Amino acid sequence: MESMYSSSYVDDIREIKEENPFESMMSRFDRAAQLLELDADLYAVMRVPNRELKVYIPTRMDSGRMQVFEGYRVQHNFARGPAKGGIRYSPDVTLDEVRALAAWMTWKCAVVNVPFGGAKGGVICDPQQMSLGELERMTRRYAAELVDFIGPEKDVPAPDMNTNEQTMAWIMDTYSMHARHTVTACVTGKPVDLGGSSGRREATGRGLLFVINEAVKRFQMAPTSTRVVVQGSGNVGGIAAELLHEAGYKIVAISDVHGGIYNPAGIDIPNALKYLRTTRSFEGYEGVETVSNHELLELDCDVLVPAATENQITSQNADKIKCKVLAEGANGPTTAAADEMLHQKGIFVIPDILANAGGVTVSYFEWVQDRMGYFWREDVVNQRLQDTMVASFNDLCRYADAHSVDTRTAAYMLAIDRVAYDTRIRGFYA
Ligand code: NAD
Repeated sequence: MESMYSSSYVDDIREIKEENPFESMMSRFDRAAQLLELDADLYAVMRVPNRELKVYIPTRMDSGRMQVFEGYRVQHNFARGPAKGGIRYSPDVTLDEVRALAAWMTWKCAVVNVPFGGAKGGVICDPQQMSLGELERMTRRYAAELVDFIGPEKDVPAPDMNTNEQTMAWIMDTYSMHARHTVTACVTGKPVDLGGSSGRREATGRGLLFVINEAVKRFQMAPTSTRVVVQGSGNVGGIAAELLHEAGYKIVAISDVHGGIYNPAGIDIPNALKYLRTTRSFEGYEGVETVSNHELLELDCDVLVPAATENQITSQNADKIKCKVLAEGANGPTTAAADEMLHQKGIFVIPDILANAGGVTVSYFEWVQDRMGYFWREDVVNQRLQDTMVASFNDLCRYADAHSVDTRTAAYMLAIDRVAYDTRIRGFYA
C-alpha cells in the first residue's frame, strides 16, 4: 500500500523485497498507521528507530590471532520504558534484520502491555565454529562496547538465536565489572542462581500454549482432537510441543533444521525430543514418515506453529497452508505478502507479536524480581504469565472485532495506538 507520508529513511536503506523482514514489518506498520489515521508527526517519529549502534569487536581467537567481528544494537523505541530485546549470533545476521526485530519488540511489549520499548542485537559470527573461550571473549568485548548504552534503566538484552543463559551471565558479569558492583537487572534470561526467573526458559513455549488454548476454545475445538504441526524444536518449538502434548493435544509433526517427522496418529513428543537430543537429528526415528520443512508447513492440521525462523510462509506457499489456526512462535515466520492470502483462506492468525510474547513477559517479571531482590515461586510466575497472555489475547480479539480487521492488523494497531498515546502525552523534545 502507498504510504500517506514520505520518509527518505526507509526508502534509502533497503531493497524492497518480500523476504526482507524490515520491509514486512514496515508495510504492516504503514497499514495499521493509516487505519488509525495516525498523526503525521507521530508517524514520522515512530517509524524510525531511536538509535542504531554498529560496533567492531576485536577478539583473541584460540590460535592467538585477533579476529574482528561486526555487531549491532538497534534501540527502536523508549516511549514506554527501557528498551528490551534479545541478542542473536549468526553468520547471516544483517542490520535490516536487527532493525525489524527491534521494532517487533516495541510492538510486542505494547501488545502485552509491559512497560518496555524495543531493541535487538546481533553479531555476525558462526558460534558452531567457535570454542567456548572464543565465544566468551567475543561476548564480553561486545558487552563492553555496549556498556554506556545498556542497563536496567536503559536497555535490557536477553537471549535469542544461538545465545543462552551462559551468554547472559557473561554480559551481566562484564557490565557489573564496569559498574563496580553486581547489576543483575542489566539482562534477563540469566541462570536462576544468578538472578534469573523460574519459568523463564519455558516462558515462550508456555505462552504459546496459553494463546492456543484460547483460540481452540474460540473455535469450540477440544485439545484431544486438535492436530498440531510444529516447525522447530528449540527453546520455543520444542518446549511448546512438550507442553501441548502434556495438555492432550495431538502433535502430528515436528522438525528441526534438517527436516521433520510426521505421524497422523500423533507423535510421542517426550520420546522424539529425547531421540533428537541424543542423535542431534530426527533421522532414523521409527514409526513416522519423514517430511521436509517445506512439506511440513503444508500438512493437513488444525494448528500450525512455525517456531524456527523468518519467512517460512510466503506468497509462494500461503495458498497451500491448511491449518485453521496459525500460532506464530518464531518472529516474522510469515511475510506481509502472505497475510492477505491467509486472511482470504479464513485462517485465524495469532500474530508473532502476541503468540511469542511469553518470553518477554517473563523477562519483565525477571527484571522486576531483580530490582525487588525478591524471587517468586514458579507457579506464581506461570499464573501471572497466563493472566497476561489470556488478557492480551482477549484484548486483541476485541480490538479486531471492533475495528473489523484481521488479527495481524489489529495487533499492530493496538500496539501503535498504545505507543502513540504515550509518545503524545510525553510530548516531543524537539
Ligand atoms: P533455537 O535456536 O532454540 O531453536 C531453533 C529451532 O529451529 C531449532 O530446532 C533449529 O533446528 C530449527 N531451525 C533453524 N533454522 C531452521 C530452518 N531454516 N528451517 C527449519 N528449522 C530451522 O531458537 P528459539 O529460541 O527456539 O527461537 C526460534 C524463533 O523464536 C526465532 O524466530 C526467535 O527469534 C523466536 N523467539 C524466541 C524466543 C525465546 O524466548 N527463545 C522468544 C520470542 C521469539
